Amino acid sequence: MTKPLLNEIRIEFKSVGENVGLSRILVAALASQLDLNVNELEELKVAVSEAVSNAIIHGYGSRPDRKVSLAADLYPDEIHVTVADDGVGIEDIQKAMTPAYSTDPERMGLGFVFMQSFADQVEVTSKPGEGTRVRLVKRIGKDGAD
Ligand code: ATP
Ligand code: MG
Repeated sequence: MTKPLLNEIRIEFKSVGENVGLSRILVAALASQLDLNVNELEELKVAVSEAVSNAIIHGYGSRPDRKVSLAADLYPDEIHVTVADDGVGIEDIQKAMTPAYSTDPERMGLGFVFMQSFADQVEVTSKPGEGTRVRLVKRIGKDGAD
């Protein structure tokens, strides 16, 4: 049986850092239509922020004149979020997702680690020169706690 799609948003925004917070708030507001606990909400916000920061910082090398797209689909017990850029892309996805790996020596290389620990599924598709798409699935209410 297919799950009913309760709500969905599709937006495109400029690749500026302010939009990390905007995406976080948007997704959190959407997810709040479900009965999710504070932990789940915080985890979702962190995972989305990491994906959007990566699109801006790495995908676009912090250039502010590009576009990031955000899609979020809300189901009764889960939320799906896709963040996509058409930036530089990732040569070796497996390596990029290795804990503490970063192409920037100033960074911790923990974004994907957070996404993987805070979302139930993380799928990355990318092509050098074409861009990157990160799909996150967060299940809500799975631990039964409030
Ligand atoms: P941190 O997230 O801790 O600040 P980081 O961004 O380098 O550091 P990750 O988020 O785990 O660490 O990403 C690992 C590496 O994957 C990045 O250093 C970058 O090389 C590559 N990467 C991630 N997202 C993208 C993207 N959207 N476009 C291009 N490269 C990316
Ligand atoms: Mg990162």
